[in-house]
Amino acid sequence: MNIPRSIVRRRRFIESGSVLALGAVSSALAARKLFNLPASEAVPVPRMAVREAALDPPHPGPPVEEPTAEPSATPPTGRLLESEDEYADFISSLELRHISPHEIIDPHRGMVNGVANSLPPREMWEKLAPTLRVADEIRERLGRPLCRVTSAYRCPDYNAVIPGAVRRSYHTRNQALDLVYFCTTRRAYKVAVRLRKEGFFRGGIGLYPTFIHIDTRGYAATWHRV
Ligand SMILES: [Zn+2]
Repeated sequence: MNIPRSIVRRRRFIESGSVLALGAVSSALAARKLFNLPASEAVPVPRMAVREAALDPPHPGPPVEEPTAEPSATPPTGRLLESEDEYADFISSLELRHISPHEIIDPHRGMVNGVANSLPPREMWEKLAPTLRVADEIRERLGRPLCRVTSAYRCPDYNAVIPGAVRRSYHTRNQALDLVYFCTTRRAYKVAVRLRKEGFFRGGIGLYPTFIHIDTRGYAATWHRV
């Protein structure tokens, strides 16, 4: 049968979209089964666009703008990244108990409106270490695995094309992570707040419908966007 190329392309697109949607639902169901989660702790399925309202927590020092939106579910494009192996080695060297290098690296493959993200420049690598340790400790205390990292470093060009994002986000400094754990976001958020109270870190904690944001900016900032 001779099918016009445009229809074939569209069909492929629809099929790949269905596979992605089915994948999200089936992994959520599988996780619920695996961890025997009650309905109230349904595994969050990241949405394509989660709005992040403007953040302006009071703090000392020069005003620092925060992102107003997050590219929460940009599908990884699968492309290889420059210095990927070296960055993986660096993350391995931190000896995290629960978080693997590929989980951290994958969000850097994101692309929005044709603008590609990248790994952070080498001089910024070390900046993520304290935030990674917080993410790892949250995982330890939750007793539930990390589902995915929706955002880590965002290069300035990539950050700039995210709707509502503003300059100088802690993601552009490689100090922030957006995290989805296999539990409610509120539960993960509470663990993060407890850790900060205990002095484990000083930084920002944001609660969103499908993920939590943490950063190690050096002073406390807290916000809810649910
Ligand atoms: Zn964030």
